Amino acid sequence: MKPLAPLPLGRFQANRNAALRLNATELEIVRASGKFLQCAPGSLHAVNDSLTFTSDVYPEIDVAYLGESDGEHFFAYLEFFDPDSTQFQNIRSLAPMLSDLEVGLAASALALVNWHTTHKHCPRCGAFTEITQGGWSRWCEADSTEHYPRTDPVIIVGVIDADDRILLARQAVWKETDYSIVAGFVEAGETLESAVAREVKEETSIEIQDISYLGNQPWPFPASLMLGFSARATSKDIVVDGTEIAEAHWFTKVELADACENGRVRIPAKSSIARKIIEAWYESEMPDSWTRT
Ligand SMILES: [Zn+2]
Repeated sequence: MKPLAPLPLGRFQANRNAALRLNATELEIVRASGKFLQCAPGSLHAVNDSLTFTSDVYPEIDVAYLGESDGEHFFAYLEFFDPDSTQFQNIRSLAPMLSDLEVGLAASALALVNWHTTHKHCPRCGAFTEITQGGWSRWCEADSTEHYPRTDPVIIVGVIDADDRILLARQAVWKETDYSIVAGFVEAGETLESAVAREVKEETSIEIQDISYLGNQPWPFPASLMLGFSARATSKDIVVDGTEIAEAHWFTKVELADACENGRVRIPAKSSIARKIIEAWYESEMPDSWTRT
């Protein structure tokens, strides 16, 4: 498989301007004319497939600095809004329609708001921490420690066998039609390649080799970085645990197209790296009607 072209959520155009984050005076000045993005969990304020920004924000509202583009400075509100409002659109469906600038701002905004809303206290002493560095860190006054947003690496792998079949699995908590390729969190102290081989073995009992890196994109649900790989299977017999993974099967291209056409199988959203890896193996884009809902 070839390296993946820029992925739907893997685009960023704004200047992140790290020096400005450290300059509180300058940050106040650009905030006065800033553009502010509102997030709800997994969703962004958008109209007609384009992000919408507000310009007037009370000074006491906590915001994070996202970056600058063409002289405009962008910020994210650091509290979630009500996701039921019709003005919020799910980023999984919205991402492919957004510009490089918008999608980069959106991914950073969601990742930051997810972190700030769940990490308000110091992990060492439990004291409430203050927002610093324009929203890119939190400071604990009680023990003088600084804390940064975490990003959790997740490997995801398209496993192909000698007959050019792809390995797709269904998690037990998913609908009976919903399938994807194998994925899992990288464990502490592990390399990416070890994580790829371990996850495939744990979920399906399949042995692999020739692990190749394909591309990556942020996946802020809440804090993942998806790292895509391909691998070649060296065994064929699938065994699943029946608890985390309910089923896994090999599919030829014809078998997968038939299963999707008949509604027996649904594949991940177009914004996902899983979809792009499956399409890279399929050597063509796949219809919207085959997508999971
Ligand atoms: Zn502390």
